[in-house]
Amino acid sequence: MPSTRLANLVDGRLQAPLDSRWLEIHEPATGAVFAQCPDSNAADVDTAVQAAQKAAPGWAATPAEERARLLHRLADLIEGRLDEFAALESRDSGKPVALARRLDIPRAVSNLRFFAAAVMAWDSESHAMESGAINYTLRRPLGVVGCISPWNLPLYLFTWKIAPALASGNTVVAKPSEITPCTAALLGELSIEAGFPAGVLNIVHGRGPITGQAIVEHPGIKAVSFTGSTRTGASIAATVAPQFKKVSLELGGKNPAIVFADADLCDENLDTIVRSGFANQGEICLCGSRLLVQRSIYDSFRERYLARVKALRVGDPQEPSSDLGALVSREHFDKVMRCIAQARDEGGQVLAGGHALSPDGRCADGWFIAPTVIDGLPNDAATNQQEIFGPVVTLIPFDDDAEAIAIANGTRYGLAASLWTGDLSRAHRMAAELDFGIVWINCWLLRDLRTPFGGSKQSGVGREGGTEALRFFTEPRNVCIRY
Ligand code: NAD
Repeated sequence: MPSTRLANLVDGRLQAPLDSRWLEIHEPATGAVFAQCPDSNAADVDTAVQAAQKAAPGWAATPAEERARLLHRLADLIEGRLDEFAALESRDSGKPVALARRLDIPRAVSNLRFFAAAVMAWDSESHAMESGAINYTLRRPLGVVGCISPWNLPLYLFTWKIAPALASGNTVVAKPSEITPCTAALLGELSIEAGFPAGVLNIVHGRGPITGQAIVEHPGIKAVSFTGSTRTGASIAATVAPQFKKVSLELGGKNPAIVFADADLCDENLDTIVRSGFANQGEICLCGSRLLVQRSIYDSFRERYLARVKALRVGDPQEPSSDLGALVSREHFDKVMRCIAQARDEGGQVLAGGHALSPDGRCADGWFIAPTVIDGLPNDAATNQQEIFGPVVTLIPFDDDAEAIAIANGTRYGLAASLWTGDLSRAHRMAAELDFGIVWINCWLLRDLRTPFGGSKQSGVGREGGTEALRFFTEPRNVCIRY
């Protein structure tokens, strides 16, 4: 575990912020402050960008094998301290330690390994011309890139960005969320041990509008890969547009899970449907927060679903038995509680939860909310339109495919949809009609890192994952040779 005062990683050294200002880091399960992270300013960012610029030519010229070796080495070091990383992620974010151990940290390791392997297998196109010439595509790294990540899957999303950026030969100035900076700070320490050359990976902690904004607007940053809210994404897009920087935006969602009467609602599938709403306290951008259920099974499904939701155990994230932990911050807790109050005001019927929880013992002052299920609201109600990003699911009945598609597509978002049906033809038809970046059929959160990842409409611009990410972090150059 890092010292309780986290440091920036700049030019291969752990450093305090230049003007020695710090932010308090809370443990969501208790509400107590347990660490401080740098409250960095534009000067800290500038120093990091300069270090990254200095390191850029050498890193771009480093053979892909060596870049991949260092990424694997970093993955090894994280894997060797899996329990420590999982405990830290849980403490910092409020998520159950079992989830961090099973999902977040192994996935961070996989991200590093995947892009280390992907860059080795990556080849460029060539196009022969009958007139006696051949073209090939030379892909060069961009130089210094900015990677900005959110609090909900801290190390998982941080590595999802820095791994392809580094693998493809860029140097990086990265900023994790100021709400959950701890595991990224520990990764920074391990990157020194792994042997990354100074300045290749720089991590500057701090607030979004100060540190994040300074990264986005710095002229030395050639591209920005951002995951976070749609509101921040819009602000970043406006900043980078006049500078003609490349930008990848992975933003919010209001995802539907669509259950047809012919779905196989065995225990395993029902458990997955419940998980798709409440995993990580509903704080996953891919969670299905609108559960659309065909009217002919609505009542019977609702009964079985509610029984499962009410059985979820909310408690100390350190307890292996906890299904849900605490919400990430007091501010976010208040926002979700306001959304539940608004749902009641709109005429929604709260069928489960709808209130805060105060577990016994050390977590009595933590930010816990009971898993909440609401029905009786039309799709155009604010509750069904705005991203709540908490343990709140609404139930909405529908009659047929056309109505399900209209409701599912009827928000400004388009990140992920899941579809539960036994009719394969319907599944294919609907996959083509649903305006989302991901459509899961009879499953949820099955992720193959080779696939394109991203959202349509206000859920984002561009795709990450697999070769999409390697393409984003490189500039293609057409070389044409006449013979
Ligand atoms: P956020 O937009 O508040 O912050 C995300 C990151 O951006 C943080 O590091 C923050 O410090 C930084 N930031 C804030 N303002 C900035 C600015 N003006 N310039 C530069 N950086 C700035 O989001 P959040 O509350 O941390 O995360 C929750 C949101 O993220 C939800 O909307 C969720 O849906 C979304 N999300 C999307 C995906 C996806 O892949 N599409 C994945 C996870 C989370």
